[in-house]
Amino acid sequence: MGENVAVTIDENICNGISACPEGGLCIENCPTKAIENNDDRPKVKYFSCVDCGICVDKCPNNAIIAARRS
Ligand code: SF4
Ligand code: SF4
Repeated sequence: MGENVAVTIDENICNGISACPEGGLCIENCPTKAIENNDDRPKVKYFSCVDCGICVDKCPNNAIIAARRS
C-alpha cells in the first residue's frame, strides 16, 4: 500500500469486537497497535496506522477495506 491509502472499517459488516476471535483479530494483529476498542467497535487511530494492510487480510468478515485518503 502506498502512502495515499488508508484502511476503513465498515461497522455494518463487523459484528463487534466481542464477537470476533482473540479479542478482535484486527486489534491483535496490528503491528503498531493502531486499532483500539471503542465501545466494542474497532477504531483506527490514523496517526499510528502505517497502512500495512495486515488488518484487511486478517478480518474474517472482510469488514476492513483499503481506500484512498481524501
Ligand atoms: S493497516 Fe496496518 S497499521 Fe494500519 S490499522 Fe491496519 S494493521 Fe494497523
Ligand atoms: S477483525 Fe474484522 S470482524 Fe473482527 S473486530 Fe476487526 S473489523 Fe470487526
